[in-house]
Amino acid sequence: MVLENFDALLQKYAHLLVKSGINVQKGHTVVLSVDVEQAQLARLLVKEAYKLGAKEVIVKWTDDEVSRETFIHAPQDILTDIPQYKVDESLAHIEKGASRLSVRSADPDSLKGVDSNKVAAYQSAVGKALHEQRKATQSNKVSWLVAAAAGKKWAAKIWPDLTEEEQMEALWTQIFCAVHLFDEDPVETWKKKDGLLNTKAEELNKEQFVALHYSAPGTDLTVGLPEGHLWEGAGSLNARGERFMANMPTEEVFTAPDANRVDGTVVSTKPLSYAGVTISGMEFTFKDGKVVSVTAEEGEDVLKKLIETDEGAARLGEAALVPNESPISMSGITFYNTLFDENASNHLALGSAYAFNLQGGTEMSEDELKEAGLNRSNVHVDFMIGSAEMDIDGIRKDGTRVPVFRKGTWA
Ligand code: ZN
Ligand code: ZN
Repeated sequence: MVLENFDALLQKYAHLLVKSGINVQKGHTVVLSVDVEQAQLARLLVKEAYKLGAKEVIVKWTDDEVSRETFIHAPQDILTDIPQYKVDESLAHIEKGASRLSVRSADPDSLKGVDSNKVAAYQSAVGKALHEQRKATQSNKVSWLVAAAAGKKWAAKIWPDLTEEEQMEALWTQIFCAVHLFDEDPVETWKKKDGLLNTKAEELNKEQFVALHYSAPGTDLTVGLPEGHLWEGAGSLNARGERFMANMPTEEVFTAPDANRVDGTVVSTKPLSYAGVTISGMEFTFKDGKVVSVTAEEGEDVLKKLIETDEGAARLGEAALVPNESPISMSGITFYNTLFDENASNHLALGSAYAFNLQGGTEMSEDELKEAGLNRSNVHVDFMIGSAEMDIDGIRKDGTRVPVFRKGTWA
């Protein structure tokens, strides 16, 4: 690694993730999910978490190559047979209130060419089996964080023309910049950032728009917002009342759309890496909340399977606003990684909505959430729609329109 002081920076990064991210307190259990390529970071995260008083840090190793081999060779009935002990393990973690920290560094094309039926079947089976775990994070019952680390294949996908060393240096630099690691006290920066995004969310909460109208080249879409919807910024509170960041980096404020009131057409503006495949050039048409037609220039079959996963996979569960001049967007780089690309662009998500995006939502049953207009599904996949040409109007109950975004940024 050629980045100067890389080891010290990586330690500072590990500290930031466990401190500002999952906010480890005395006696916490932490479940860390991380790729074997990131062993150095994983060890530092474990050390920093124990330093902050964690009583248990459980590491779940992943590996792109092992996953790929498994998907190629294991028969579908094995892939979709999620054993009970895995379900019990996830329930035991929820019972302990364990924080979940996922470090993403995967090759965006790790499953290219693999039978997409198998991958879709596995994702659906896992989604069902680990339903309670998804519920616990999606309702902020436990602290959770998705962060990034530079993976070799991922870096190569972004900058195919650089040498491996240059690729890795470039990607680590982008990751560190995006989380403000080069600031003297990044923990303090994150406190301020949390405050700023929260102010934006509160302004929108006061408005209580009944819908947003998006217009841009190829996009003319109305997204209804349910009564009592809540916009959220960077930080959230878990069931114990502890503040945590669900994503680092983050630049978005987001809420839950009304799953039954989305109409019109929307085009994607950035590629999406989903199920180990790149999907790009997407165009969706919605009627009464449901996708009625979808095409993609690349990865269309994977996208169509995603939408068929379950009833909610063809409806929206998130509407997020990110100004086009966000630092990640200004870099001009397409990252092929949702954590980065979603924070460079207005985006929507297919699938499940977050219960905390509705007043009283975290106390509601699945049926009550659905009744209130919040989409339910075993998937949640963001796709990017923002650009410098996007205008968004907020529509009030009386039909008057208020400019929310003009030319890709806050009006
Ligand atoms: Zn988002
Ligand atoms: Zn999302």
